Amino acid sequence: MNTFEPPIFELSGPGKCGVNLPTVDVPLAELPQELLRTDDLAGFPELSETEVTRHFTRISQRNFCIDTGMYPLGSCTMKYNPKVHEAAARLPGFAALHPLTDPAHAQGALWIMEQLQSMLAEISGFDAVSLQPAAGAQGEFTGILVFRAYHHAQGDPERVEVLCPDSAHGTNPATAAMVGMRVVEVKTDHNGNVDLDDLQSKLGPRTAGLMLTNPNTLGLFDEHVQQVAELVHGAGGLMYGDGANFNAILGIVRPGDVGFDFMHYNLHKTFTTPHGGGGPGCGAVGCKTFLEDYLPGPRVCHVIDSDKFELFTPPHSIGRLKAFHGNFGMIIRAWVYIRTLGAAGLREVSENAVLNANYLRVKLQDLYPVAYDRTCMHEVVLKGQLRDAPAAKTLDIAKRLIDYGFHPPTVYFPISVPEAIMIEPTETESKRNMDAFIVAMRQIVAEAVEDITILKQAPTTAPLRRLDEVGAARKPILKYDPVKFQELRRSHAAATSDEQPERPTY
Ligand SMILES: *Cc1c(COP(=O)(O)O)cnc(C)c1O
Repeated sequence: MNTFEPPIFELSGPGKCGVNLPTVDVPLAELPQELLRTDDLAGFPELSETEVTRHFTRISQRNFCIDTGMYPLGSCTMKYNPKVHEAAARLPGFAALHPLTDPAHAQGALWIMEQLQSMLAEISGFDAVSLQPAAGAQGEFTGILVFRAYHHAQGDPERVEVLCPDSAHGTNPATAAMVGMRVVEVKTDHNGNVDLDDLQSKLGPRTAGLMLTNPNTLGLFDEHVQQVAELVHGAGGLMYGDGANFNAILGIVRPGDVGFDFMHYNLHKTFTTPHGGGGPGCGAVGCKTFLEDYLPGPRVCHVIDSDKFELFTPPHSIGRLKAFHGNFGMIIRAWVYIRTLGAAGLREVSENAVLNANYLRVKLQDLYPVAYDRTCMHEVVLKGQLRDAPAAKTLDIAKRLIDYGFHPPTVYFPISVPEAIMIEPTETESKRNMDAFIVAMRQIVAEAVEDITILKQAPTTAPLRRLDEVGAARKPILKYDPVKFQELRRSHAAATSDEQPERPTY
């Protein structure tokens, strides 16, 4: 590590140049006057190539990523993305394929799409799949639009209520509200399942459907899922499955077999297409035959009695969700993942994801109370309420983990659990890594008991100390302003010490 840290952003100097353009060898054309810039290029950075390269390389090294360490961010399924996927997605026949290519000349790509549609349908117990949506939340949006279209077609437009258990992912109620539905919250019972009495009292002729995350955000499989589905269907509603946690039940339970009518898959979680940082995702959706005609297009079908594939849009499609054919690069990666592992391999993924989460639960529950004392699925929710150090908060524990070289787990979510710490190790973490994480978590408790300031001041070894997270969310600075940036930097430097303590050892 360099001890001398050059300034992060202000490297610009007048006259510096990072490009070396060849001399013009074509006739110069006159630009019309109105297209010419009249003001100066003031404030535009002037840099050499070396400086630009070092700047971006340096800040990239400050990123925490799944390729550098354990990232147990519950609910987000930050698992390792095999590099063979990247090689496949970069094959020129895929990467350079123009989206407007005549389907007759893109049969290989359509074949991949058709196979992925069929494999996802098979894995989940659904009849039809659309690969259009770009994210889980967009898949949810698709599903509720489909529910609405279906109810309208049935002459039931008054069905405008979407039930969401309080253990649902936040995107579920947000989605329902965005579609213009009324969100009705359903309680969780003492075992972490949907409270059936509360559910019953909220069903009625206005029920459009229920959105169930299963396993839910408590990391628990709803033990009454079939009863929930029967109750919802009995009231004329539809069952939406939030399949973002599908990685816990691959090859074990098919959501289509236990009462769900529609579901989204997060290919960027369960099927290891990379995600985070707002990059491209794929929130493919699957449904039962009776909803198939409403799916977004284009979808791909195999032309009967031929070896050809073609694109089509279902007859009552709710419309497009995404330009062209969805995020095609994600489709390739997920296809490679499923084909590499096969059916038995996918089941093993889930078995190991569940085993790993339970291993952490058992090794930590004497120091960190578990939210629900039962076998968990792919993630475990603990509470940062330490018996011998009541002043310690979940936030302190999370920040101290950074000093130990781990990305913090998801914290304060689900909101129904006070001081929640939601840990999802995923199946790609080795026992050795998990043991290191356990040691760090246990050592943090010892530190909290011995000297709480160690936790309160954390992180001390990260490039930046504690950030103003509320300010960042409420008053985001979305545009680079050199003057404001320097002011912020100075005030930040004043608030934090210059010393870089050593990483704790363990
Ligand atoms: C991640 C997640 C979502 C949202 O998926 P995005 O792809 O981030 O939009 C929805 N539900 C659950 C349970 C999730 O974990």
